[in-house]
Amino acid sequence: MNKIVISLLILAVAHTTLIAQKLAPLPMNNKEWSDSCQPFRIAGNLYYVGTYDLGCYLLATPKGHILINTGLAESVPMIKKNMQQLGFNMADIKILLTTQAHFDHVAGMADIKKQTGAKMMVDEKDAKALEDGGNSDYYMGGKGPLYLPVKPDKLLKDHDTIGLGGTKLELLHHPGHTKGSCSYLVTVKDEKRSYTVLIANIPTILGGTKLSGMPGYPEIGKDFAYTLESMKKVQFDLWVASHASQFDMHNKRKAGDAYNPEAFAGRSDYDTIIKERETDYKKLKDQQ
Ligand SMILES: [Zn+2]
Repeated sequence: MNKIVISLLILAVAHTTLIAQKLAPLPMNNKEWSDSCQPFRIAGNLYYVGTYDLGCYLLATPKGHILINTGLAESVPMIKKNMQQLGFNMADIKILLTTQAHFDHVAGMADIKKQTGAKMMVDEKDAKALEDGGNSDYYMGGKGPLYLPVKPDKLLKDHDTIGLGGTKLELLHHPGHTKGSCSYLVTVKDEKRSYTVLIANIPTILGGTKLSGMPGYPEIGKDFAYTLESMKKVQFDLWVASHASQFDMHNKRKAGDAYNPEAFAGRSDYDTIIKERETDYKKLKDQQ
């Protein structure tokens, strides 16, 4: 066999191994993550297309769409149906983003990327976790990939902007929950006015975290401290988050409600949840 044939064989075997790769059992699950949710227009060209609790956000533009978060692997058909219900096609997704490389937000990335050919862009600090299916995550990793790995097409840093069809998002690096957790700021417009929307990744400290440093994440304490300070200063008109429960979505909006961006206005509950996370941080820091 010549060298080229041998290399091709090696590649084929590597590829088959990857496809046959077994995924590790998920460390946790929650019924509300898999339950369905009526999709709706949040404000301007921003739509909620996620599950009952897993926030997946669609920015629909004339040049194609941006999808932030996919939920679980099995959430993908739900997102597709939600998009169809709003009059959009999954095939038109051009850019994939996430707020954090945990399986409940990115497990459908590989599937959607394959279906659409969209470019995956990720906070550079979460790139490794995404590439190994979450196996390098300091908290959930170590037992093999939890989701199908995705190779990012572009790495993003704090304050980088992502643009498509007249919509521009700004990435805010909010590390701690994962190394590359991030939020996004986007300005959207409707017939009446424009709104600056924060898609927030709330810095939840997972049980058992050592703020003095985890083996796979030595600077975790410093990162949480940075994020808590930084999130207090973010200015916005409306806010949503990685989990619907974090911004009380189901109380702010009931199924069937008419378009009403104001339902997501105000920051008092946002300030409260950041304060709660800060209290958790201080308590943990005192104990350790
Ligand atoms: Zn998470």
